Amino acid sequence: MTKIAVLLISLSVVCSEVIAQTVAEPQNTPAEWAKPYPPFRVAGNLYYVGTYDLACYLVTTPQGNILINTGLAASAPLIKSNIEALGFKFPDTKILLTTQAHYDHLGAMAAIKKVTGSRMMVDEKDAEVMESGGKSDYALGGQAPTYEPLHADRLLRDGDTIRLGDTELVMLHHPGHTKGSCSYLFTVKDDRRSYRVLIANMPTIVTEKGFSEIPEYPEIAKDYAYTLEAMQKLTFDLWLSSHASQFGLHRKYKPGQRYNPSAFMDRKGYDAALSSLQKEYLNKTQGK
Ligand SMILES: [Zn+2]
Repeated sequence: MTKIAVLLISLSVVCSEVIAQTVAEPQNTPAEWAKPYPPFRVAGNLYYVGTYDLACYLVTTPQGNILINTGLAASAPLIKSNIEALGFKFPDTKILLTTQAHYDHLGAMAAIKKVTGSRMMVDEKDAEVMESGGKSDYALGGQAPTYEPLHADRLLRDGDTIRLGDTELVMLHHPGHTKGSCSYLFTVKDDRRSYRVLIANMPTIVTEKGFSEIPEYPEIAKDYAYTLEAMQKLTFDLWLSSHASQFGLHRKYKPGQRYNPSAFMDRKGYDAALSSLQKEYLNKTQGK
């Protein structure tokens, strides 16, 4: 073996060890994030397959399924068993999406991508932070990745369509929480009617710093302002979001309850949530 070959082999060993060792998912997260929760049909071909608080959604089509978000790394088996409990096949997962590149929504994504061979699509502004496993995040980044890094197979821009089978999702760029946070707007049908569904990434503020003290994200204040305004203008029938607590899942639905999409018709709740986020934003920009 040449000296170079030896060097290359030892380098690759070092690199893979570094990757394997350094994913450091934050500890002491709320118990509700990892708590199992029975999956259910939200409306038409849209199902809730997440944990008690970390919302994951499955959109099923005759050509395979779309999974949006995963929860923490340890939740991979829970999500898989939720999908199977509904009668769907895990390997039928064809497209993976997220509402934001944080560890509580991407923790298990790389593992699920490996097992299912699905294509990961992400808002182009979150692609770089996702490839770093959250390490380069302006607020939650640091010395180590917080989730297993993963590569985007397709970059999405505001208004782009994700098509699978008979379903079309429109990606809406809603930056601020992360540079590429986004929401999804799409129509589902059951035998009675169709519903316009919004899976919203609510623009909560994660950083404790002032907006002007974040050189990694100079457009942050402008991005939050844009998102707050854009979200107020959206029209939809059903409102869901990245965390169950954000759209009041547990007030609106109890496990075992009969199929009832209208439980998630809540324009008032959505507007109230946005107006309180608007206040937080104003307090922040005014330095309170
Ligand atoms: Zn987040």
